[in-house]
Amino acid sequence: MTWPDGATHAVSITVDVDGTYGLPRGGEGSSERLTARSERLYGVVRGVPRLLDVLAVAGVSGTFYVPGAVAIEHPATIAEIAGAGHEVAHHGHRHIRPGLLSAAEQLRELEAGVDALESVIGSRPTGYRAPEWELTPDTLAALPSLGITHDSSLMCDDRPFEVTAGEGTLVELPVHWSLDDAPHFARGGDPHVLTSIWDDELVCARAERRHISYTMHPEILGRPHRVCVLERLVERAAAGGAWLAPHRDVVAHVAA
Ligand code: ZN
Repeated sequence: MTWPDGATHAVSITVDVDGTYGLPRGGEGSSERLTARSERLYGVVRGVPRLLDVLAVAGVSGTFYVPGAVAIEHPATIAEIAGAGHEVAHHGHRHIRPGLLSAAEQLRELEAGVDALESVIGSRPTGYRAPEWELTPDTLAALPSLGITHDSSLMCDDRPFEVTAGEGTLVELPVHWSLDDAPHFARGGDPHVLTSIWDDELVCARAERRHISYTMHPEILGRPHRVCVLERLVERAAAGGAWLAPHRDVVAHVAA
């Protein structure tokens, strides 16, 4: 694969801004869980600005996957993300795993998410990522009719590919748990170990001249002692000759 500006490989920084909707079943029935909710809220109020600062210093645009309900609750924060030049993409409406919903409910979640993001950022999202990375056939099939051109929820490859979605096709930008901050820190992970793992993946992507997506969460990587993982990642990617771009730009390049 060839990349713009003679880059050897391509890297997307993706951030899932789940807020309190990241709790099980979109946080349904969690109103009494003040501490659990507050940990998620930290991601929006403190984690997002910290990650945005790192990306601004590095001059890197990323893709922020945002549930519609989070955009409605925190419109200024989500508008600021878009205003800084980052892609804001669809991450469900209430961040409920699609498989827990009927086909009709899945469609309503998708439509509500599109409407919410459009009302906050002024344009319709073109990217989608399933809540909890649990895509279903019904949700996948509905995406093209909503103007979605790319998805980032599947794990069957380690480079972009075309996926059939209902009557249409999408560009799939695959993910993996090892390239996500959540499983690493769920086991009390060391930021320096994650830096090393993600750096190894960069080296492989460079040798294979491929694209790679890293996924992070503001309540996790936006903690003060962990944000160095993102700082090192963008430094090393740029130093290694990578093209750092949001998913929408990678899709435009791949499609061309
Ligand atoms: Zn999420």
